[in-house]
Amino acid sequence: MLCAGALAVVPAAGAQTPVTGSGGTGLPDAQPVGQPQGATDTPAASQPAAGGSQSGGATYHGSLNSVGQRGRRLRKRQDRPVLALFQVAPTTLLAYGTPATITYQINDRSRFVRVTLAFVRQGSAGALYRYRLGRARTGVPHAFRWRGARGSDLAPQGSYHFRLTARDSQGHRLVRSSQTLGGAPIEVRNHSFPVPSAHSFGGADARFGAPRSGHKHQGQDITAAAGSPVVAPRAGLITWRAYQASGAGYYLVLAGENETYNYVFMHLQRGSILVNQGDLVTTGQQLGSVGTTGESSGPHLHFEIWDGPWYHGGHPIDPLPMLQIWDSYS
Ligand SMILES: [Zn+2]
Repeated sequence: MLCAGALAVVPAAGAQTPVTGSGGTGLPDAQPVGQPQGATDTPAASQPAAGGSQSGGATYHGSLNSVGQRGRRLRKRQDRPVLALFQVAPTTLLAYGTPATITYQINDRSRFVRVTLAFVRQGSAGALYRYRLGRARTGVPHAFRWRGARGSDLAPQGSYHFRLTARDSQGHRLVRSSQTLGGAPIEVRNHSFPVPSAHSFGGADARFGAPRSGHKHQGQDITAAAGSPVVAPRAGLITWRAYQASGAGYYLVLAGENETYNYVFMHLQRGSILVNQGDLVTTGQQLGSVGTTGESSGPHLHFEIWDGPWYHGGHPIDPLPMLQIWDSYS
């Protein structure tokens, strides 16, 4: 698919909203949300201590407090906290994108347990991230949202297993390792492919550096059906939105969050653009749709990556190697 590519309107110096020093997307750090939910459940601690072998009418916990060896013998499976629910969704976590929500429920005779959640990267020794979630009510589900970052430091890309540990007021730990219960690992990715639906990279004409009349093609063309969603490969700031009839058509420029890249999206469908200059977007957020506006011979996304600010000190680089990587896991 041919397009003019590099003919975008160059914003006049000073006409552009400052694009630097964004200081973050304003998204909060990962926060535990494991506050007690639903106050109507029966406190687990009030249940009869069925199965306990102690005699004499002492409560189970009382006996544990006062005896040593006998108490340890009593620490049967049913007396320890049990992980009743442990799930994650989605299992792909995009940097600065939608957080992964980990849902868990712990059943125990104690009304509260102390919970720690750790994220262990495949191939790394030990947990890279550990969150002490404090006291969590037993018998009800809780949710923890993980952004895959601490402050502005992104978690390294890869597969993360997550492990939950809990301890009740008697010091009893979870019956089972939750690593197995956690199921599928979370895949952490720093970018999203900009056209998630069916697409192709076309032939030599579509490549970065392909000859055009009077200049070279400054991006990679991605052919897809008109109306296919175009999403942000990376969170960041929309620094430019404009229309150029003789070239780029409807187009956008995005400055990537916490990186040096600017991304340019051209020939977007008329009326499809969902963001404005100055908007902050998340990774994977839809920006518009594939179209063929401007100088274009058919529906496609003309996609550029600039190292540095677009037309303000940066320079275009070949997007294809990065696109191919993103495409492989999208
Ligand atoms: Zn192009």
